[in-house]
Formats: sequence, structure tokens, C-alpha cells
Amino acid sequence: MLATLPLLEKTDFPAIQRGPLKTLQVNLGYRCNQQCLHCHVDAGPNRKEMMSHENINEIIKLLSSGQIETLDLTGGAPELHPEFRRLVERARALDVHVIDRCNLTILSEPGQQNLAQFLAANQVEVVASLPCYTADNVDGQRGKGVFDASIEGIRQLNQLGYADSSDHVLNLVYNPTGAFLPPSQVGLESDYKKQLGEQFAISFNHLFTITNMPIKRFGSTLISKGEFNNYMGLLKASFSANNLQTVMCRDLISIDWQGWLYDCDFNQMLELPLLLGGKKKHISELLVEQLQNNDIVIADHCYGCTAGQGSSCGGALSD
Ligand code: SF4
Ligand code: SF4
Repeated sequence: MLATLPLLEKTDFPAIQRGPLKTLQVNLGYRCNQQCLHCHVDAGPNRKEMMSHENINEIIKLLSSGQIETLDLTGGAPELHPEFRRLVERARALDVHVIDRCNLTILSEPGQQNLAQFLAANQVEVVASLPCYTADNVDGQRGKGVFDASIEGIRQLNQLGYADSSDHVLNLVYNPTGAFLPPSQVGLESDYKKQLGEQFAISFNHLFTITNMPIKRFGSTLISKGEFNNYMGLLKASFSANNLQTVMCRDLISIDWQGWLYDCDFNQMLELPLLLGGKKKHISELLVEQLQNNDIVIADHCYGCTAGQGSSCGGALSD
């Protein structure tokens, strides 16, 4: 894979600082029941990287401080971590909102048959990637049979009340298949609702459109096709200063499976750690108060968050 960091480090992106911390986004490890070609962490069934019991306890300790509103769990398939359920239950007992970034197919895996019930019982918000409402496009991106298994996963969640009440939220994620910006989130959400409702009688709450970042596999493909500069030009030409106020790194930190801190998941993928006093920090030494007004580590990929309607792990930043 071709590295994009050397092309991104020299940047004219405006300096930004943190506000109060609200969300911990935690990568529990790289094990996954799928092995998607585009996966930005190369997750798969044979990956062994998993967050340790000690670091899970550090996360719980931080949640117990009462300062964090949301725990956002990613992977791999976070549900395959042996302590996933303990962490979710502890967080919910502390009244912390939990998001599970779920690939939907995990809901039908052997040994996970009661996962949907567990998520529903703990009122976990499910955020799931579904890059299109047609089988050909989804299977092309994520593997044969993934579309049908995803529809089955949504059906299971709907039967448990997902998309039907504010306690059971199911959001889907779309990202473009190439070097272009996502279409209007509002318009695409209404197309998805119509198509999935009419064809499969399934429902969801919101669609999040996420801009492709010029990093990892997507960035490498841009370089090899000679499209990297054009795509960066598009992101920069579409810069919207309003989005600077709401980029997700203002109130979120990302934690890797070894417990190191980053300003966001993209910086984690680029191995650009969060810096406090010029040093990278571990979850075990984090004091939330220290983060306030801290400079966020930026590079040219940050233009992916501010282009057009803006982009974050929670979708567009503006209409
Ligand atoms: S489901 Fe997600 S984490 Fe798993 S291999 Fe695919 S992209 Fe990677
Ligand atoms: S890429 Fe990360 S650090 Fe840069 S603006 Fe987006 S969220 Fe913030």
C-alpha cells in the first residue's frame, strides 16, 4: 500500500482546538468475521490484536468520572472482543450512551445469535455500513452474500424495536464508491428509506454520509491511479469554514486497541497521535481536563471533514 502521510503533512488547514470532551471512540481490536477489500484496518478472522483487560478497565475508570456522554465502539467487529458485553453493561450502568459500529453480518454468526437481543436490552445505538441499497454494489464492496446478511441483520433489529423508538436507534452509513463527494445526506436518506422500505419492508432512523479520506487503501488507490492531487483539489475547493466549528475532533478522542490516544479515527489510521505537551498519551494517564483547548493534530486530510456538507463519524455536519 502507498503511504499518503508524506503528501498530507505539509498543510494550510486552519489550526483548531478542543472543546469539552464528550465521546470516547474505542477500537477494541482487528478481529472481524468479514475481510472486506477496502477495510482501513485490514481486519479479518485471523487478526489477533485485541484490547487488554487492563485497558478495558482504564476505559471503565474514565467513564466512571462522569464526564463522558458517549462510548463509541469500533474494530474489527467490536462484538467479537470477549469483553464487549461487560464493557457495554458497565457503560450503560453509568448512564453512558453506547454506539456499536456493527457490520450487521455479525448478528447471524454462530455464537452471536443473541447479540441483537443484547444490544436491544442495553439500548445500544447501532451504526452500520450499507454503502448502497442494491445487492450488486454492496457485495462488490464488502463481499459475496453481505447484502442479504445485512438485510437479515436489519430485520432482526427491526423486530426488536430498532428504528421504532428513541431508545433503539439504527443508523446506516454511506460513503462514495470513488473520488467524489457524497450527495446530499437528506436526499440520499429519503432514497434509502423508500428503496429499503419498498423492497424489503425494513426501516432505519438516519443515513450518515461520510466523505472518503485520502488515506490508507483509498488514498493509496488515488496515488496509483494518478488521482490524488485532483481529489485533494476537490476537497480544498469545497472547503466550508462553517464546518470547522463542528468537526468531530472538537469533542471526541479516539483510542487504539493498545490504549494510545488520537484526535480522531483518521489520525489513528495515519499514526498521528494526540499530543499533550508534545508527548503522545495513553488512556491510563489521561486527565480529561488537560484536553480542553489543546491543539488538535492536523494535516491535509482534515479537508475531508470540512468539504461541502462536512463529514464525521456521525455523518454530514451541515445541510
Ligand atoms: S466489516 Fe468493517 S471491520 Fe470488518 S473487514 Fe469489513 S470494513 Fe473491516
Ligand atoms: S481529520 Fe480528524 S483531526 Fe482532522 S478535522 Fe477531521 S476529525 Fe479533526
